[in-house]
Amino acid sequence: LLEVKHLKKYFPLKGSKVDYLKAVDDVSFTVNEGEVLGIVGESGCGKSTMGKTLIQLLTPTDGEILLNGENIATLSHKKVRQKRRDMQIIFQDPFASLNPRMKVFKIIEEPLVNFGIGTKEERKQRVYEVAAQVGLTQKQLERYPHEFSGGQRQRIGIARALVTNPKLIVADEPVSALDVSIQSQVLNIMKDLKKEMNLTYIFISHDLSVVHHFCDRIGVMYLGKIVEVADKHELFNNPKHPYTKALLSALPKSHPSKEKERIVLRGDVPNPANPPSGCTFHTRCPNCMEICKVTPPTLKSISEKHDHDVSCLLYEEKMERKL
Ligand code: SF4
Ligand code: MG
Repeated sequence: LLEVKHLKKYFPLKGSKVDYLKAVDDVSFTVNEGEVLGIVGESGCGKSTMGKTLIQLLTPTDGEILLNGENIATLSHKKVRQKRRDMQIIFQDPFASLNPRMKVFKIIEEPLVNFGIGTKEERKQRVYEVAAQVGLTQKQLERYPHEFSGGQRQRIGIARALVTNPKLIVADEPVSALDVSIQSQVLNIMKDLKKEMNLTYIFISHDLSVVHHFCDRIGVMYLGKIVEVADKHELFNNPKHPYTKALLSALPKSHPSKEKERIVLRGDVPNPANPPSGCTFHTRCPNCMEICKVTPPTLKSISEKHDHDVSCLLYEEKMERKL
């Protein structure tokens, strides 16, 4: 359904024409129809920027975004609008993303109006339909967002994202702002809708347990790059990248995939405006070799069967021969 090739999103740094913050730096992956691809990483690793770039809320600096084979990164404005109907986003903070002065009905209807879909009556029916799917009554639609709880607001956000009948949903930390007790409710709604509407999700989160519960395949991001991607069981049972291993080791003790020993990474995430040379993880990597400081690894397949790719010099063929 979606194929992303060498996607880059650079932001020019203030007062400099030559320096860029490489928020998303040469990211490639595919998402199959009906799949849930999780993207995990610490805050500031570029996951949200990637999500926004995918659905064209931000213009990519370089690279291709192929939706059903068509590169939406280079489409004309008009055509992008049509494609945008097929890709929608759910944001982390449902409250900040809902217009406080609009009634919920209008909020959910808005994408239909923007895309010029349906007559007034048809739009009304569609709003009622999708509201019912997320568990909102017609009476509730006449209220304002501040009258709802966090979980209900996220239902509104989901209804708005689904009203145009999209194929692909980018969900950016959709439950992170919610109480744990509400999280599973919202995730279950998303799961049910996926089945009913034959949706495909890209699920962005910093929370490995949530991703483990919800996703089929998982990509791990560090400083704007995907460092490892594999189907979820493979990633949890057979992690290869030192960063993935460290993330997994920080899971709560009760988690079945918990590594025996906690791997504590030294230092903080480096400033993405000034990333380390070579492998950008080398300043924190417990397995760092001399060559890692100068040679950047590339994402390479290590198992076709499990769709397992990793970007680490420990696994590059040439390296193995040298070692
Ligand atoms: Fe660590 Fe080197 Fe692999 Fe980077 S390339 S993750 S520094 S071992
Ligand atoms: Mg974010």
